[in-house]
Amino acid sequence: MSDLRKEYCRKCGTLLMQDEIAMTKKLINRGTTIYYCTNCLAETFDVRREDIEEKIVYYKCMGCTLFQ
Ligand SMILES: [Zn+2]
Repeated sequence: MSDLRKEYCRKCGTLLMQDEIAMTKKLINRGTTIYYCTNCLAETFDVRREDIEEKIVYYKCMGCTLFQ
């Protein structure tokens, strides 16, 4: 059962998808309580938005427990 708390992007205030929360945890750390949307993650880490989306798919395929 996934955690259905509502979280918002720290930077732009967008309501976040569970995948975006999981990706923030993956990129920053598991214990973080600050989350970012895909766009802001891409900007923060200086990568393309597509790179973040590809990583989400990749980690899902790997069966990462953060992405369920
Ligand atoms: Zn954002």
